[in-house]
Amino acid sequence: MSYEISKTDILSYHCDRCGRCCQFITDQIIIEALDAFRMARNPKLHCANLAEVYERFTHPTFVPSLSEGGYPTFLLNARKDDSCVFLKDGVCAIYESRPRICRTYPFVVHPASSKRELQILPLMDPFSKHFSGGSISMRQWLQQFLPKEDQDFLAAEYKAMTELLGLIKQMPPKKLLEATMEIIYLHYFDYDTDEPFLPQYNENMEKLKKTLTNLA
Ligand code: SF4
Repeated sequence: MSYEISKTDILSYHCDRCGRCCQFITDQIIIEALDAFRMARNPKLHCANLAEVYERFTHPTFVPSLSEGGYPTFLLNARKDDSCVFLKDGVCAIYESRPRICRTYPFVVHPASSKRELQILPLMDPFSKHFSGGSISMRQWLQQFLPKEDQDFLAAEYKAMTELLGLIKQMPPKKLLEATMEIIYLHYFDYDTDEPFLPQYNENMEKLKKTLTNLA
């Protein structure tokens, strides 16, 4: 169950880092380009670039399926027991660079229709004790778990995805493979981790829109 809340709301919220939400994650956690970028910069992971992050810690899928005009997406790997590959002794081994979905859990955040506003939905899952103690304003929560770079990325990603999914829908089937390779390269892989993320992302999305327009 979920319901919409606003930035000014005060919520009962508490996290005691029990790690239960990291134990049931098979095919649940999307690794966005900004997530992979931060993981590639995490010295603990010893990754040379983003391609290595995707190769070692994720598996690809299409959302929705390719035949329905799906978009290539990467999901975080889980162990056989359903727990996250980064869960070590009950804590997250990459806590400072954990994916956005992990940082915002137990809330789901989307850009709302009005400019610069967000839609925030609490997830009432059966394992969660998050809403039974403590209190935090959503504004404070956002500052802590979804800083400005993330909010700007989220807004840019949703805007770009609306346009890119429209182009994929128009793509002749014989061009889908080529389009998929371009998406994987420009959307997910082609970043210099010594440079800031967002300007590179915006440039790559513009290139990708042009490339897919020419293919469609
Ligand atoms: S990346 Fe970290 S926070 Fe996210 S599911 Fe894995 S262990 Fe948990």
